[in-house]
Amino acid sequence: MHHHREPASKGPPATEALESRVQGILSRMTLAEKVGQLTLVNGHGGHIPEELKTALREGRVGSVLNEVDVGTVNELQRIAVQESRLGIPLLVGRDVIHGFKTVFPLPLGQAASWNPEVVRRGARVGALEAASAGINWTFAPMVDIGRDPRWGRVAECLGEDPYLSGVLAAAMVRGFQGEDLSRKGHIAACAKHFAGYGASEAGRDYNTTNIPEIELRNVHLPPFKAAVDAGVATLMTSFSDLNGVPASANALLLTRILREEWGFDGFVVSDWESIPQLAVHGLTADARESAREAANAGLDVDMAGHAYADHLESLVAEGGVTPERLDALVANVLRIKFRLGLFEDPFTNPADFPAIANEEHLRAARQAALESAVLLKNEERTLPLDGASLASLAVIGPLADDGYEQLGTWVFDGDPTYSRTPLQAIREAVGDSVDIQYVRALETSRSRNREGFAEAKAAAAHADAVLLFLGEEAILSGEAHCRADIRLPGAQEALIHELAETGTPLILVLMAGRPLALEGVAHQVGAILCGWHGGTMAGPALADLLFGVESPSGKLPATFPRVTGQIPIYYAHKNTGKPSTPGSFVHIDDIPPGAPQHSVGGTSFHLDAGYTPLFPFGHGLSYATFEYANIRTSRETVEIGESIAISADVTNTGDREAEEVVQLYVRDPVATVTRPVRELKGFRKVRIGAGETLAVTFELHTDDLAFHGRDMRLASEPGLFHAWIGGSSEASLRTEFEVVSPATRRESDLQHSSEDV
Ligand code: BGC
Repeated sequence: MHHHREPASKGPPATEALESRVQGILSRMTLAEKVGQLTLVNGHGGHIPEELKTALREGRVGSVLNEVDVGTVNELQRIAVQESRLGIPLLVGRDVIHGFKTVFPLPLGQAASWNPEVVRRGARVGALEAASAGINWTFAPMVDIGRDPRWGRVAECLGEDPYLSGVLAAAMVRGFQGEDLSRKGHIAACAKHFAGYGASEAGRDYNTTNIPEIELRNVHLPPFKAAVDAGVATLMTSFSDLNGVPASANALLLTRILREEWGFDGFVVSDWESIPQLAVHGLTADARESAREAANAGLDVDMAGHAYADHLESLVAEGGVTPERLDALVANVLRIKFRLGLFEDPFTNPADFPAIANEEHLRAARQAALESAVLLKNEERTLPLDGASLASLAVIGPLADDGYEQLGTWVFDGDPTYSRTPLQAIREAVGDSVDIQYVRALETSRSRNREGFAEAKAAAAHADAVLLFLGEEAILSGEAHCRADIRLPGAQEALIHELAETGTPLILVLMAGRPLALEGVAHQVGAILCGWHGGTMAGPALADLLFGVESPSGKLPATFPRVTGQIPIYYAHKNTGKPSTPGSFVHIDDIPPGAPQHSVGGTSFHLDAGYTPLFPFGHGLSYATFEYANIRTSRETVEIGESIAISADVTNTGDREAEEVVQLYVRDPVATVTRPVRELKGFRKVRIGAGETLAVTFELHTDDLAFHGRDMRLASEPGLFHAWIGGSSEASLRTEFEVVSPATRRESDLQHSSEDV
């Protein structure tokens, strides 16, 4: 039995008044002016060339990106509004990805907070600061599913999980757009990259993706749907080829799914030159054909590609694109300009906005950095450090005191002069009471030169503890910055090996844009705290955690593999017909010489890496300890269309109050298509006092269990489900419940009543 579920309708419905204003303008526009609204051009860094002025006056440009000088932005708006025939204001776009001047942790780091409020506030601060420069449109949230940490762009995404990404994407949209897009300081968001970009083969940026539609719908699209449901104003297409039809010409994505199934009425922008690149992909012969394919697939705005500007007018005149199609694209853009209130007032007065990097913004960034850090390992309570009993501390590594690198990728406007580094914060935290020896040891995270090792080793040998700030510089992740080997780069592993010889406890503080493969060094350090690229306030946040002012509360939004060759490795995998178990794994060293081939009883693992990750999705330790017990459901069966409550008791068995992210996972063990071994269905960050117990309850509707089946429709299936509540994707506390179809329930009720008779 397959129960069809209607797609939920999107955000605020377009009002009739708005539509009539859109149609009113459309009816007065020339062909050239219409194409102008679909044309997004790059800015010129505080300067407006004559040809741009002319294009604006003639209505041949509808939006600009990368212009952040507010005087210039106001002048661009003035020309568009006062000197063009129809006076249509401009969209002014910028990549405000994790902050503007005040930089928040990388999106992947923010995802590790598992706290939608942290994410919302980060976007809010970014929107306010960017809007004070005249920006009214950002290219975030990035919601590509990141299951391949070789891909440099995992830094920008919200992790490997569709549900977590969706919840946080919606929070980010709310942060940028607020309740009312037309209010000053609220800017249009853009969910990108639609769709499938994260599946780029080999984790190499821009590479091909082949994603079966069922996988596309169940894994890659849900966060986009969540962003659309949250009212996101725009989407951006992906650079990538999706099953033979690059995303920028993909009608299944842009029309069928986005418009017809989800009812989206904002606009879709291409990625940078991704329309003319359709010819590079080999889908079209030239830019003209590319413009035709993109427009007919439903792509509204051409970012920097000039393909629409050069060809759309003649395509419409000659019938390659219908006038109705063109009007629909233009209406999508105008609708957002109206919703932004730009027709009422397109100008920006910076004095209307709070100061850049003010105390409140810095406090929010610090809290985000604090909640983003994940304590991966903590043997014998290596952490927190006790400032009172320490005499000396060695602070070692190229990332300990670098205000630029801690900001991470995509910080066009990020200002490192505001940065507070870990070394500064550690010095402030301990004052003169602890002797701090700082040794950079390696010039950069990539350096292979070991000249600094001797000094580092000497400092370590004389210290009570070593804080090692290692990982990746900002430039090693982000767009077009992928790695084929995700171990610590350069001579960092060698540095750890050397320092381990001193016997002084080592604490590894990771600053990186991706999960790293740490198997080679994890056993040599007592603790690992993953701070990602934590942004402007990374230093004070990390110091608070290292000295126990606060307890870590982050959880991994993406799996840490043991070695690169395990990728892709993610928790929500399928079971296979031969799943591995502890007993079924054979290590390469345990195979006798000359062993005959045999696969009977073989299971799915790597001889040299097993089948488990080093640190699973959802993992993250605290200075407290939490015990989970007494999992229960509100009922044994739940009818399709109804809800069930699943609860567990969480006890803080530690000696200090702390926060824990309680997670709910579900498995549908038998279905008409195979389902993942576990799927996250709920989470809640809770604060629990020492010795206290909190009952945590999740409401689960059968719609939350729905998936796209063989016919691609979204539906819930009846049957037995397993559910776990715990502190990671390896939670062991399990219960079961049964989903029944309404018909079954009625039949059994009838049977009961006839027996009664
Ligand atoms: C990236 C987008 C970004 C755009 C504008 C492209 O290269 O893929 O994510 O928004 O540039 O800077």
